[in-house]
Amino acid sequence: MPIGTDISQAAALLRNGRIVGIPTETVYGLAANAYDPGAVLQIFQAKQRPAFDPLIVHVHAIAQAEEVASLETAEAAMREQAHALMRNFWPGPLTLVLPKAAQVPDLVTSGLGTVAVRMPAHPLTLRLLRSLPFPLAAPSANPFGYVSPTTAQHVADQLGGKVPYILDGGPCTVGLESTIIGWEQQAGAWVLYRPGGLPVEAVETVIGSVGRAQKAVVPASPGMLESHYAPLRPVFIGNVPLLMEAHSGKRIGVISFRENHHAQANEVLSRQGDLAEAARNLFAALRRLDAAPVDLILAEQFPGEGLGLAINDRLRRAAAKRE
Ligand code: AMP
Ligand code: MG
Repeated sequence: MPIGTDISQAAALLRNGRIVGIPTETVYGLAANAYDPGAVLQIFQAKQRPAFDPLIVHVHAIAQAEEVASLETAEAAMREQAHALMRNFWPGPLTLVLPKAAQVPDLVTSGLGTVAVRMPAHPLTLRLLRSLPFPLAAPSANPFGYVSPTTAQHVADQLGGKVPYILDGGPCTVGLESTIIGWEQQAGAWVLYRPGGLPVEAVETVIGSVGRAQKAVVPASPGMLESHYAPLRPVFIGNVPLLMEAHSGKRIGVISFRENHHAQANEVLSRQGDLAEAARNLFAALRRLDAAPVDLILAEQFPGEGLGLAINDRLRRAAAKRE
């Protein structure tokens, strides 16, 4: 299965109703024509993704977002804030959940009346999108529930046999999935569904305070699923030296922010204490530890602000037990 930088080959496959691995600044996506349910179905099959988990629609222009979302029916205040967010943060790691336009197939949104939309900040994928007459539905290009891919090779390792082409845009510069916020009509407020690559504090500088989604039995956004982004090995979060003592005798892999704890395998995400660098390194580090000869993975708690919020969210869900 080829990996390459040939945008026209990727475009030809997508026009023919096939799926393609695409780079974004957050993580690699598995893309299909968002208007073609047959193409979108292949994403669910390749990922073994349950049909209740909706996809994000990727666009190259605000005008294209307006084709996908029907903003004209929305309240004026919300419409203005949605546009302000697009102008301020697109292209970039912010996904908006907005009222859905009729032409978006139900399969893309899992039957919801809303659609998740984003403009990715990756030059190759923006060029690809501009060359196509349709937007791309794309979730992360990993088997459902596993750690998201941040290189083309990660995609090939896990979905290689199922994807006819992977567009290689180099390692992801953000390395965490997008921040997702949605407008909740009943509350008349914006709510954070998933912390991610854009700190929610930045969003709040534009639209004021954003609510935090409550945990629900049926998640409002499946990005809220408890066990997700999870390696195969057990993950424990907390004070690493104490956890190392508690698990002595076992082979241990450690994920830490700045400090090396000298376990059997060590992934220090940012020696200089830079959360953006730590975010960029997180998923590749989890994959390396998952492939290392260790029995379990220990992780430090990261600072609870900015990108640390999203890093802690992913670690917590990596640590949550599978059903
Ligand atoms: P992924 O790209 O794999 O991170 O998955 C996309 C995520 O976007 C889903 O798991 C949902 O959490 C979220 N999402 C997509 N569409 C909607 C929607 N209409 N309402 C709420 N969340 C959504
Ligand atoms: Mg995903």
